Amino acid sequence: MVEVLEKSRSSVLGKLASLEDKMLKGEFVDEPQARRAALLRAQKGEMDRLLEEIYAEMGEKVKDAGADVMQAAGKMTTATMNTTLGLTTTFTHLDRAAVNAWFEMSTVDGLLVNEWLKKLEQTAVDRIVSTGRQAMVEGLGTQATARLMRQKGVQGSVPGLEGLARTWLQSAAHYAKEKTVTDQFGDFITGWEYVATLDSRTCLICGPDDGKVYEKDEQKPTLPRHWRCRCTYIPKSPTYRELGVDMEELNDGTRPAVKHSERTVHHRDGSTSTAFSVESVEHVSGKTTYQQWMKRQLEEDPAFVKSVLGKTRFEMFRDGRLTLKAMSTHGRIKRLAELGA
Ligand SMILES: [Zn+2]
Repeated sequence: MVEVLEKSRSSVLGKLASLEDKMLKGEFVDEPQARRAALLRAQKGEMDRLLEEIYAEMGEKVKDAGADVMQAAGKMTTATMNTTLGLTTTFTHLDRAAVNAWFEMSTVDGLLVNEWLKKLEQTAVDRIVSTGRQAMVEGLGTQATARLMRQKGVQGSVPGLEGLARTWLQSAAHYAKEKTVTDQFGDFITGWEYVATLDSRTCLICGPDDGKVYEKDEQKPTLPRHWRCRCTYIPKSPTYRELGVDMEELNDGTRPAVKHSERTVHHRDGSTSTAFSVESVEHVSGKTTYQQWMKRQLEEDPAFVKSVLGKTRFEMFRDGRLTLKAMSTHGRIKRLAELGA
């Protein structure tokens, strides 16, 4: 996707420059307001057309990559389920219809993949036009304009596209996993367990649902639940007792609980991003949920809980006035005012 974007850079610059030649008499800053506005409008129109083509190509790339991920996830799910249940089911190839259904019907935060691409496309158009305007205002030459365009205009779209790829490939994997389990192992499972990540980056919408088990036919949140969501479901099979065997379940193992430190990185082009580095990793019992882990941190490392929740939510959680679950509603985090803080 980044390659597609890089390739577009010269056509972006060419189109912006040819409009400048056509519409300006002198320097941009010396032109009357009306002519400047007309040029920027024309540039926006031209960028709309150009980026529409480019982002349509991105859509195809997401779909192809999604199809690959779906095959791999389906195959892996079949292997895992076979091992868990002692079966020898063969993985049946996920056909084009399944890929199309995923691509055309899956949503993240209520938007289809094409709608997300449209959003990123509009942001990219705005960024490119405003970068072009900055170059004209500053009277930059061709080379300096090209550099600025790479740093701000084109490079600025990379984090968004990277997030899109990550989020939607997760979506493809979930889709394939659920479809494979339901189609081939539906009779062997009793439900799905929601698994969030035990770390400081897990959001207040996902964290409290960690460990929650949904019945097989019960409505459950569709994953990914939000942009860059890392949650997953694992299929639940009947316990020994449910099968009539009087025996304890095998040890569920451990799961890692990770603490990060974060710092703001200032880039040379003036933009900033957040860099996370792993501070500590602790292996806790596999049965520990996010809620239980955070509760324990209140005793062991209150400063950590405070850094995750913020001061007010931390105090309410510590004093037992607020549960993690009550911090969000319908997929959004409640404002402090709504919490009665
Ligand atoms: Zn999540």
